[in-house]
Amino acid sequence: MGRNGRTHALVGAYALDAVDDLERAAFERHMRDCDGCRAECAELREAAARLADDAWSPPPGRLRHTVLTAATNTRQNRPPRRPGPAVVMIAVLVTAIGTVPQREPAPRSTQLGTSGPGRERA
Ligand SMILES: [Zn+2]
Repeated sequence: MGRNGRTHALVGAYALDAVDDLERAAFERHMRDCDGCRAECAELREAAARLADDAWSPPPGRLRHTVLTAATNTRQNRPPRRPGPAVVMIAVLVTAIGTVPQREPAPRSTQLGTSGPGRERA
């Protein structure tokens, strides 16, 4: 299939607007000189429009009332409980205490040299 053949093959996708911008531009250039593709595109679009007309219908008038009544009568799940302010404050304090650098106790040898029992004997 040559380049022209590939362009002919786009007629269905073009008729359903299922082509990208490059394909659309190429096919529209091709259609200017191709009577067959112009006619086929027109037929496909007409068929698609007829199919779409048969595929939908206005919803019954009671549908809205029926759906809203069912939603009202259906037990709903409770939303998850949010923590109270006291729980949030405790969490903030625990986090803050955990991130404050703690002062290390002095090394044991220093304590012994200044006030330990060995000093009193000297
Ligand atoms: Zn063509």
